[in-house]
Amino acid sequence: TTSAAPLSALSADDLAARLTTVRAAYDELKAQGLKLDLTRGKPGADQLDLSNGLLTLPTTYLDRSGTDTRNYGGLEGLAEIREIFADLLGVDVASVVAGGNSSLTMMHQVLTALLLKGGPDSPRPWGQEPVVKFICPVPGYDRHFTMLAELGIEMLSVPMTPDGPDPVAVRALVANDPSVKGMWIVPTYANPTGAVCSAEVAAELMAMPTAAPDFRILWDNAYAVHHLTDVETKSADALGLAAASGHPNRPIMFASTSKITFAGAGVAALAASPENKAWYLQRLNFAAIGPDKINQLRHVEFFGDADGVRAHMRKHRALIAPKFAAVEDALSSRLTGLGIATWTVPTGGYFVNLDVLDGTASRVVALAKEAGIALTPAGSAYPHGNDPDDRNIRLAPTYPVLDEVVLAMAGVAVCVELAALEKLSA
Ligand code: PLP
Repeated sequence: TTSAAPLSALSADDLAARLTTVRAAYDELKAQGLKLDLTRGKPGADQLDLSNGLLTLPTTYLDRSGTDTRNYGGLEGLAEIREIFADLLGVDVASVVAGGNSSLTMMHQVLTALLLKGGPDSPRPWGQEPVVKFICPVPGYDRHFTMLAELGIEMLSVPMTPDGPDPVAVRALVANDPSVKGMWIVPTYANPTGAVCSAEVAAELMAMPTAAPDFRILWDNAYAVHHLTDVETKSADALGLAAASGHPNRPIMFASTSKITFAGAGVAALAASPENKAWYLQRLNFAAIGPDKINQLRHVEFFGDADGVRAHMRKHRALIAPKFAAVEDALSSRLTGLGIATWTVPTGGYFVNLDVLDGTASRVVALAKEAGIALTPAGSAYPHGNDPDDRNIRLAPTYPVLDEVVLAMAGVAVCVELAALEKLSA
């Protein structure tokens, strides 16, 4: 690249010349025969290796109170793992349920129970309402949206800001429409923008009047301890704020060790008001006799306490921060000043959010694919996969090794510029 002037300011001749240059760069890229994948936020093998100690644990099958973890029972999970989650999430241990390996499954259980049975404060099961709507901050986590689509819940998008969901937009949707029953939020290092919900926004969301008496905020704190810098940001106190404003049952909090230990064999947790927790356990009582307490116990042995988790997360950071730095280097060195892209520099979590020239995101993803670089499908961070501006691309740099991230991102930058030049020349 030769110029850092906005591409939109180029003359037709300069644009044509640049298109030729960048097309040549793209052809070279294709000729490399790459096979790289930036699609999913999965831990790299080196990150998984950090937790290999788990494979030879636990050394006992008795929990702290002497219970035999090999047997049935203990629906709310081991007290000692619940204490670790409580400390990490900043909640009372009494509010926590420790479950199986997936927090996403717990979210699904909560939603299906709300649809079939209603919550403690529901006039009737949600499934008996003519229509149920959920507020979805966008861009957001694709699986949150596909889960709602699967369950027949309508989605209303609100913009995600650097401080969390736009509270003015949320307020306007919940104030008068009782069919708006809930919303998603990833409060810390959101997927995919990396935004952290401020205490002020959290307080507004917990206090705002809602037409639905049983409004739920599914507070998915998947990245609560996944810092990328030495600033270990604390999440807003969702349960405390909700209780203080008279809506103790509004938030239900979720987290897991999926991106702390093993993505496929971690421990998930839920935290909620006493009434919500009792309601959840009542439902769960018909579906399970107890969680995998042996897995919970080995996690307790492995970490010792919440500080053990924090120390472990610093090792993750040492492995993945360089990959995020490589993304930032590639984008800023190749695209700064061209006026065709903006991107986040996240301080935690698993993603970089890349916004390209309007109308070119699908083209960028297609170009990358042709060059052997797999990107998350354009639009996947929006309900029904529909990004109205066709501008958003989620980059997930943790899974490939660093050299691959460097190669892939150099290629992505070429695709971003080529797609923009094609559009501007059209
Ligand atoms: N929530 C968010 C926001 C995520 O990004 C992910 C994984 O990408 C999950 C939940 C999945 O969590 P779990 O593995 O506990 O089901």
